[in-house]
Amino acid sequence: ATPTAIMVGTGLGAKRGVLFKNAIALETSARVQVVVMDKTGTLTKGEPEVTDVIVDGMAEDEVLRLVAAVERESEHPLAQAIAAHAEARALPVSRAERFENVPGHGAVADVDGHRVVVGNRRLLEQEGVDLGKLAVRRDDVAAGGRTAVMVAVDGAAAGVIGIADAPRETSAAAVAALHDLGVEVVMLTGDNAATAQRIARHLGIDTVIAEVLPGDKAARIAELQAGGRKVAMVGDGVNDAPALAQADLGIAIGAGTDVAIETADVVLMRSDPLDVAATLRIGRATLRKMR
Ligand code: ADP
Ligand code: MG
Repeated sequence: ATPTAIMVGTGLGAKRGVLFKNAIALETSARVQVVVMDKTGTLTKGEPEVTDVIVDGMAEDEVLRLVAAVERESEHPLAQAIAAHAEARALPVSRAERFENVPGHGAVADVDGHRVVVGNRRLLEQEGVDLGKLAVRRDDVAAGGRTAVMVAVDGAAAGVIGIADAPRETSAAAVAALHDLGVEVVMLTGDNAATAQRIARHLGIDTVIAEVLPGDKAARIAELQAGGRKVAMVGDGVNDAPALAQADLGIAIGAGTDVAIETADVVLMRSDPLDVAATLRIGRATLRKMR
């Protein structure tokens, strides 16, 4: 690699807030064949908001009050959206006891003597809860591209909370730009398959890997690397760090967590998904100059 080509490439990147950590990152950018993008906070804004509160057997405010008590104890972005929603409605929220976080699934706690389970379908199934009538409502929420958070109180399904996280303005254009470069685009997420599929279709992404547990993201990247394919992973969260490390090229969204930024090979300071395509183009231009 000629130092001049690397300097030019690094400079081009810096101008648009694409920080290459080293020369190898620049060279690898030229060879990427698959770009894996985390959904929440990368393709979407990462600003989830409650859009639906659907209940069965209990009053809406009562369900929200119990759920908010659990979610107030959690740092998950979905939990924060629910807590904020209850606060906006000025509901009296009790203190949760025996709070337990279930990574990639949800949370459980006791509130006012009730056992409250909040999370995805898998968590409620594990807790032996029959979704009953709410199963259909859950599917409707997911089919609309919203995340369906299920609630059970004392072992009975009590509600579905729909949460929307809007795509970033440039996500669809970013996918198109990557396709123009001949790169395959994959969405990777812990969210449920129906929600993920809907958002992926809207953005023009053809491959979706959904319902991936936080600890399994790196293994899914390794599978995509089979046959020596060069894989880039774009993410923002603590959850994403092992996958960023596993990928041939880890790209962190600048507005993301410190762990993601530290682990990555490239940092996108503007947090714009379009800059993923720019990263690859700068890499390719640099490589051409080195020959
Ligand atoms: P992501 O890959 O989108 O960051 P996670 O692995 O953190 O997702 O979580 C996967 C899924 O588990 C979420 O989409 C949600 O359905 C559920 N979940 C996790 N934590 C919570 C929580 N505190 N409250 C509600 N649902 C949760
Ligand atoms: Mg994320």
